[in-house]
Amino acid sequence: MKKNILFTIFIVYAINYQVNAQNTTNTNSKMIPKTEQDWKKQLSEKDFHILREKGTERPNTGIYNIHSKNGIYHCKGCNEPLFKSATKFESHCGWPSFDDAIKGKVTYTKDTTHGMLRTEITCSNCGGHLGHIFDDGPQETTGKRYCINSASLNFEKK
Ligand SMILES: [Zn+2]
Repeated sequence: MKKNILFTIFIVYAINYQVNAQNTTNTNSKMIPKTEQDWKKQLSEKDFHILREKGTERPNTGIYNIHSKNGIYHCKGCNEPLFKSATKFESHCGWPSFDDAIKGKVTYTKDTTHGMLRTEITCSNCGGHLGHIFDDGPQETTGKRYCINSASLNFEKK
């Protein structure tokens, strides 16, 4: 009986999670109220494609791929701080990689596009697409790899 209750709780939680994930994807009610035209004015064509159309920059082309200065990486869309340089590591995957994000600053959404099951990461403040999270990060820390487009970020040196 106890097992059934736990299972039910799990299912309710899972359904809620799905609903929340869908809400995050489909509505921008809590986010910055900007139109596509506003974003186009603010961002370059390439940055717009990545941040607003969920594009991916070509590997080994981003300015922060090989970049080890101390500071904070901010969202290029809204300037929220997202990642600290202390969590950046060299993954050799071709994109800037972090083993953690600043708490509460990124949103995780199930992504089934391109025939893959992945978790998309977006900026919690403006909904801008940042990249994806994978489970092959450094085992000595979080085990996660936040694989992020340089074009989604602005670096602030400390
Ligand atoms: Zn943002």
